[in-house]
Amino acid sequence: MSSPGFTSALERIGNGGQDPSDLEALLAAQDRSRVDALHSAAYAVKKREVGLVARLRGLIEWSNTCARNCTYCGIRRDNPGVERYTLEVEEIVAAAYRAREFGYASIVLQGGERQDPAHTERVVKLLLKIHAATGGELGVTLSVGEQDRSVLRRWRQAGAHRYLLRMETSDRDLYARLHPDHPDWEKRRRCLDDLRDEGYQVGTGVMIGLPGQSLASLARDLLFFATQDVDMIGMGPFIPHADTPLAAADFDSERQVRLALNMIACARLLLPDANIASTTALQALHCRGRERGLLAGANVMMPNVTGLRYRTAYQLYDGKPSLDEDAASSRRQLERSVAAIGETIGYGERGDAPRALARLPRP
Ligand code: SF4
Repeated sequence: MSSPGFTSALERIGNGGQDPSDLEALLAAQDRSRVDALHSAAYAVKKREVGLVARLRGLIEWSNTCARNCTYCGIRRDNPGVERYTLEVEEIVAAAYRAREFGYASIVLQGGERQDPAHTERVVKLLLKIHAATGGELGVTLSVGEQDRSVLRRWRQAGAHRYLLRMETSDRDLYARLHPDHPDWEKRRRCLDDLRDEGYQVGTGVMIGLPGQSLASLARDLLFFATQDVDMIGMGPFIPHADTPLAAADFDSERQVRLALNMIACARLLLPDANIASTTALQALHCRGRERGLLAGANVMMPNVTGLRYRTAYQLYDGKPSLDEDAASSRRQLERSVAAIGETIGYGERGDAPRALARLPRP
């Protein structure tokens, strides 16, 4: 049985409460009855607000060249063991086409962070080509890091309409420790405001179970999402990568999965009509991780449509799944996973978050 303290915390958060200690109590849920109560409450909210339909985004990992050196990331600038690649514009357009043929009405263009003019122009060019090749039908999310507002404006004008910029943590000190080369948390946060002002649907997210991260810190992350009023949330468990400074960090995969699922459930309760991703990192730690993410309240999945030969070179953490699974098998696998929990897939639908549509005209 759930304890009265836990049950009342769940009730308060479910009714719009935002008390950080209530969120901490929910995040701490470990025994079966509490976890079930939390996830069931989140699932009921998901069913009511966004429906039991998995929204798909074809993920294109278009470049692993990165100017930053995040201490947890396998493709950080100073890792000499990475074979760097940048897809040709034609290869990216072909992957976008593949996504559309599979019925994924949205794509995510994900790459390392660069701020040079050549990179800005390249992204403009590829957005315009994708737009022309697919008749402007595809929803396009960019996930290419912190950028100046003028750059964000150009990309928005060239056809991007969503942007995912993960903060990784709302704790400024932890952020500075994780990003010694770029410790300015506030600068990154302002970028979320710029995205909003430029008319993007805005997504952010955090890493869960980082060394030195407490439940109180994760509760503040959740409240940060609510304060920023974001449209999309992408969170994943921290998984160490062998070639990074955090390679030897304490790591308990069971705890990471539990915390990540509890975070998803709490996010759903706090932002009922947001799009929330069930990320690949969850799948890396548990064979049913993605389904469990959906059952905890997530509604978005991102099947990889990048060509197989580039998959191994884009490893942010160790144990990334589906390295040898082509886009067609990955689609079949996904269909099985979603059907197994009695949900459907929103083929041919862009799947914009209701909270974004209420604010912005349809792109
Ligand atoms: S997390 Fe992103 S910005 Fe940081 S090193 Fe990795 S790819 Fe670059």
